[in-house]
Amino acid sequence: MRRVTILGATGSIGCNTVSLIAEDPGTYEVVALTGGRNVALLAEQARKLGVGLAVTAHEECHDALKSALAGTGIEVAAGPEALVEAAQRPADWTMSAIVGAAGLAPGLAALAQGGTLALANKESLVCAGPLLMETARAAGARILPVDSEHSGVFQALQGEDVAAVERVVITASGGAFRDWPVERLAMATVAEASSHPNWAMGQRITIDSASLFNKALELIETHQYFGISPERIEAVIHPESLVHALVGFRDGGMIAHLGPPDMRHAIGYALNWPERRAVGVERLDLAKIGSLTFSAPDEGRYPALRLARAVMAAGGLAGAVFNAAKEQALDGFIAGQIGFLDMASIVEDVLAKLAGEGHMGSTITLETVMAADGAARRAASELIDERQG
Ligand code: NDP
Ligand code: MG
Repeated sequence: MRRVTILGATGSIGCNTVSLIAEDPGTYEVVALTGGRNVALLAEQARKLGVGLAVTAHEECHDALKSALAGTGIEVAAGPEALVEAAQRPADWTMSAIVGAAGLAPGLAALAQGGTLALANKESLVCAGPLLMETARAAGARILPVDSEHSGVFQALQGEDVAAVERVVITASGGAFRDWPVERLAMATVAEASSHPNWAMGQRITIDSASLFNKALELIETHQYFGISPERIEAVIHPESLVHALVGFRDGGMIAHLGPPDMRHAIGYALNWPERRAVGVERLDLAKIGSLTFSAPDEGRYPALRLARAVMAAGGLAGAVFNAAKEQALDGFIAGQIGFLDMASIVEDVLAKLAGEGHMGSTITLETVMAADGAARRAASELIDERQG
């Protein structure tokens, strides 16, 4: 039996992972599941998979989870430290699918116990890429990418020499507002930004897709995970979301990864790697699809991409500051405190302010990352308050 743990089981990636594991009874022993506020779903998943431990991230949800699992013999815990403790329990494969920087400490704990970490939580690579890679190396653990573009690059690189890579191209659907005139973007509502044309995902990443902050995080993720230099990494708008990534080699050839916009492919690939096992996603009918289109992103329309380039050039803790400022600005947008376009300008201002105050230079440890994260959130909140006032 393969021992597996799912961090963020109640989210969009988590539920898809649970369903793939439930489809294969007798193959997996589920060590732990973690969730946040959706205690009813977490309890249902824990019963269905017969897990050892169920953890909610929030202390105030402890009692509700305990009563939902009463009489099952399933161990219950709550709080950020309990998440880390769950991730430390020996497992062969752990899915990292908590949203945001909150996924970093549990992800590091899972790596330190030496198993494979299937990484959906891109924020942890953006905040602390070198720390994650070094923790994996020291523990003899492996990180497999789950983000569809990075899974696509990883698949295109199987059997290839990374030294022969000339460029990596990741695609972007363009999100909810790709057909909107730029003047309308300032007025975009949360409901409008929360509907993705191609992918069904959690609300936060869906809004990040509309602002292209998701693609910005993914440019940095590509740099951190594959060690490809920033000038060799490109993003291209591809509204059909069928080509997820392309790798160009020094002989001029390119290998593209195609698949339906369904995360169960990338999750299944990371679950079964290096094997390929059947996954019940739709098969592409290329003749029916007819054409695939690509265009260059407009950095005037999408300032997030320009900011990602500045973050990669700065290095150090700039990724942690960028991500935390973005998370705080996203909270402000969701709460109706700031407009859609304010998110990028707040992130830009926070980066400039914290660089000026010397917050970005230190070495990357969990402590320095969390300190930079906290400083960036405070700076972003102040700017949100100013703009409201
Ligand atoms: P969701 O918002 O759907 O789910 C997030 C999960 O994290 C839930 O289990 C949630 O619990 C839990 N959670 C929320 N806040 C905290 C916290 N502070 N501490 C611990 N757990 C918390 O997100 P997605 O599944 O969409 O995304 C998960 C990760 O995967 C993100 O990093 C995202 O960028 C990445 N990703 C997602 C893709 C997708 O298709 N959805 C594609 C590629 C990458 P609860 O809901 O119970 O409160
Ligand atoms: Mg992606």
